[in-house]
Amino acid sequence: MTLRDQRTKDGARLLSGLDCSAAIKAELELELDALSAAGKPVPQLVVVRVGADPASASYVKSKRKAAAAVGIRTEEYHLDASITPGDLTALIDRLNADDDVDGILLQLPLPSHLDDKLFLNQIRPDKDVDGFHPMNMGHMLTGSNPLLLPCTPRGIMELMTRYGVTFSGKKAVVIGRSNIVGKPVAVLLTQANATVTLCHSRTASLEAEVRGADLLIAAVGVPHLVKGEWLKEGAVVVDAGINRLESGKLVGDVDFDAAQAHASAITPVPGGVGPMTVTMLILQTLIAAKARRNL
Ligand code: NAD
Repeated sequence: MTLRDQRTKDGARLLSGLDCSAAIKAELELELDALSAAGKPVPQLVVVRVGADPASASYVKSKRKAAAAVGIRTEEYHLDASITPGDLTALIDRLNADDDVDGILLQLPLPSHLDDKLFLNQIRPDKDVDGFHPMNMGHMLTGSNPLLLPCTPRGIMELMTRYGVTFSGKKAVVIGRSNIVGKPVAVLLTQANATVTLCHSRTASLEAEVRGADLLIAAVGVPHLVKGEWLKEGAVVVDAGINRLESGKLVGDVDFDAAQAHASAITPVPGGVGPMTVTMLILQTLIAAKARRNL
């Protein structure tokens, strides 16, 4: 499907995660319809949420809604914040063993008495639709193309690719070195033959690094950290940051209004990387189901 050519006020191409997600979801819906018409099982995503964090509740709701909209079954286990490590382990074991469960998503953060890493590592790698298991991460690092990747980095690569952005020989700068966004994006860009600089809170001159970037990926969590005048003319800018200002407005890590005057293409916040992350979760549930059930 061709994506609409939307432009910012100074003519940069808008990399719309909403449009791109809609296109991918339409493809997924067709594929799921075909599976169902052939009498194949409907893939199932199970979400495990612990405690009453309102942000987690809202993320889980939107993930389940998006999955259901394309025809994926979803189930949620909402556990009390006081659950013991043993009981959470027992639930994950049960879901791992259940042949009718294709994807397991453990919504983070967990309450402080539960160690995120321990439980993420317990999810079967072939049901790890969030892509955080060290086995999937390790295969990504060695270039062995795991089926399941961290969703936000996969979404960022998919968004750029579908808008025709090329990577080979480009100088890419990634700001942020988290395991869920920055580091894996740097790996995927390297595999796509970009020359990658990974910046973080101790980078000596962020501005100087950004000035050389053909592609800029920001995943920091600091509103408007990247100034428009830092950008190389014609840079492609992907902003994963989601920051709520005191006014209630959501903004990214890049000053969008100033940046769009220099960029050739730029993601909005909201409506850029966020929707792609959810769509990649749905895509990966289907991928996991097809691989494990031989569909
Ligand atoms: P994190 O806090 O784990 O990592 C932030 C990174 O930014 C760190 O590596 C740190 O070194 C770096 N950093 C902090 N201050 C810096 C500075 N002044 N200069 C340069 N680097 C600096 O965050 P995260 O989980 O990777 O998330 C980053 C942002 O992306 C947040 O706004 C988060 O809400 C957003 N996010 C969005 C999605 C999505 O789907 N759109 C998904 C995950 C995260």
